[in-house]
Amino acid sequence: MGASSRVELITIGDELLLGFTIDTNAAFLARELASIGAEIVRRATVGDTTAAIVDAVREALDRTGAVVTTGGLGPTSDDLTKQAIAELFGRTLHLDDETYARLAARWRSRGLPEPIPSPNRQQAMVPEGARLLPNNQGSAPGVWLEDARGRWVAMLPGVPREMRAMTTDALVPMLRERWTSAGAGDSLPVVRSRTLRTTGIAEATLAELLGDLAAGVDGMPLAYLPNQDGTDLRLTVRGVSAAEADRRLQAGIARLRFVAAKWAYGEDAADLAAVVIDRCRERGLHIAVGESCTGGMLGSRLTAIPGSSAVFLGGVIAYDDAVKTSELDVPVADITEFGAVSETVALQMADGARGCTGAEIGVGITGIAGPGGGTPEKPVGTVWIAVTGVGDPIAYRTVFLGDRAEIRYRATQSALDMVRRRV
Ligand code: AMP
Ligand code: MG
Repeated sequence: MGASSRVELITIGDELLLGFTIDTNAAFLARELASIGAEIVRRATVGDTTAAIVDAVREALDRTGAVVTTGGLGPTSDDLTKQAIAELFGRTLHLDDETYARLAARWRSRGLPEPIPSPNRQQAMVPEGARLLPNNQGSAPGVWLEDARGRWVAMLPGVPREMRAMTTDALVPMLRERWTSAGAGDSLPVVRSRTLRTTGIAEATLAELLGDLAAGVDGMPLAYLPNQDGTDLRLTVRGVSAAEADRRLQAGIARLRFVAAKWAYGEDAADLAAVVIDRCRERGLHIAVGESCTGGMLGSRLTAIPGSSAVFLGGVIAYDDAVKTSELDVPVADITEFGAVSETVALQMADGARGCTGAEIGVGITGIAGPGGGTPEKPVGTVWIAVTGVGDPIAYRTVFLGDRAEIRYRATQSALDMVRRRV
């Protein structure tokens, strides 16, 4: 990979420094630019001051000569990016007629009173010699400035929707052309990743299971990414053509999948709820749920999947014990004897959900999401999950880690995985 594709990212905004806004722009840009072979060598965030912007951009230009910024292109007094960087390049700003005409048309189409206030006119001010990147989602265009030595800065808007569209519609094609014509040929080296999603197995156990593959596959480094859904395994390949990268990743993922076997449920952005819906649809099976501590979250995850109506029939949120009895036919005597969080009650809730809907598969979830309500025998995080109607009834007790939200979510993930393995 030539030096021409080393790039630095600078995201601009006090809200980012203060931690009120998460810097999703940098993450998006890193992924998009990597896919066309850029090496992101540094990311920085600065506040809304001219000095901070100028310093950061100057240093980045000295290192790589290739900088993408986001933020500070808006109409308000904290939007200083264009002015600051124009100053650094020794360029003055002038009103761009075409941009102004577009701004005015947008203004009129929204029925806003004229004349356009001067802060908004600012958005049509562009540095001399700039190339503009069209904004299909908003009013301020992006700005590309390049000096006599070929060092460049691409300024993108902060609003993520606008920034994303401008990146894919304008910046990526521009950079691709630039780097291709710089002599890399049409098989530009890329950085590409693929992810295998696993659940129900601890990260360290998974690494042990992977044995020889634990550190990487066929020269590709392997990243372990534990999260609420389970542990994702991400393989990354760099510096080869797109076709070669895809071939290697495909082979690498197949090897991982073979070893991770029953723990693996999908790739990349796969959602376990969608996997379960697919499998049940193929087999003509229907699901119903009886949920206590998850309060409908399992039903919500299933119904979030388009086409779930072919599989998911419904269920009961039986939070109070009286509802477990009245709607799911859980005998009062069993709740008294075993407790609401017990194998017996989870199984009866699963059966009760089948009973009131006619679904083949019933899922019952009952547990202690905390932060209160735990006991030495049943600590916070204890959840009984039962699946009945496919094969022998099964029920597992798990003590999930995390706060209330994590415990509830992990319980739904575990329930979905139990169904997946049964079908
Ligand atoms: P700006 O273009 O700086 O006026 O930013 C407009 C809005 O975009 C801000 O209020 C933030 O909500 C959002 N934003 C700006 N920068 C980022 C970023 N790096 N990541 C995510 N959101 C951002
Ligand atoms: Mg801002």
